[in-house]
Amino acid sequence: MQLEFLGTGAGSPGKFRNVTSVALKLLDESNEVWLFDCGEATQHQILKTNIKPRKIDKIFITHLHGDHIFGLPGFLSSRSNQGGSEELTIFGPTGIKDFVMTSLRISESKLSYRIKFVEIAQEGVLFEDQNYIVNVAELDHRIKSYGFRVKEKDHSGELLVDKLKELAIPSGPIYGQIKQGKEVTLDDGRVINGQDFIGKPQPGRVVTVLGDTRQTPNIELLAKDADALVHESTFGKQEGSLARNYYHSTNIQAAKIAKQANARQLLLTHISARYTGKLSKQLESDAKEIFSNSKVVRDFDIIDIPLP
Ligand SMILES: [Zn+2]
Repeated sequence: MQLEFLGTGAGSPGKFRNVTSVALKLLDESNEVWLFDCGEATQHQILKTNIKPRKIDKIFITHLHGDHIFGLPGFLSSRSNQGGSEELTIFGPTGIKDFVMTSLRISESKLSYRIKFVEIAQEGVLFEDQNYIVNVAELDHRIKSYGFRVKEKDHSGELLVDKLKELAIPSGPIYGQIKQGKEVTLDDGRVINGQDFIGKPQPGRVVTVLGDTRQTPNIELLAKDADALVHESTFGKQEGSLARNYYHSTNIQAAKIAKQANARQLLLTHISARYTGKLSKQLESDAKEIFSNSKVVRDFDIIDIPLP
């Protein structure tokens, strides 16, 4: 599980940072990639990575401001031209379907795959399959903006082969049944409970990706014990009132909430073009004073999220 940042800038594309998009790479886990936001030229950024557009099967849109969605029509069309045929689901605020379908209709773009739209109607579970559960909650921005909490389901424990061998239980298909935790009758008549031969389940990872926002209590709910928290940091230490007026956050606010939520690492993104070089380092070190595992991410940074 990895996060790959495709765009880390705020508002308009800059020389060093493209507008917002981050990929959650779930290749080893479920052979897919999820995209969070799709600012203009996200597809150009993808060209510089090893991400295959056809592997992207879900796109989560935090809010409908242009710097988070203007890349969608182009990306969706190219995915089709490159032979993508698998259905793609777009989750986002009400209006995202209208935006995408209007762009495609007026440009007479025909896609080789179906798009399923899920417009967010309420907070809570947005999506669930056998591997993941995604919760959504509302943030505080000028326009409806959301945060997503991706929770990987717990991995079942390993089969305790040594313990089975100690009891002289021969290997074979029966091991499969034991691993499922079933009660099994052996050839010699002994009955064993599979549960006794499975190690501790390994907790799944949590990745939280937020849209643009002021500080609001939902952030802590979404980020509780997260292995990675992706938080905007449009403003710096001395700019708390600016952040409030523009419905954004500072690096310090993000660091405080990461600490309060007991997150494992904080990835600061949506960085203003005013923060280049030294200033961006300063943004990071100021955050680190509050929450040591803070990082101001750059375009193309890849962040590993290992199992705990
Ligand atoms: Zn933005």
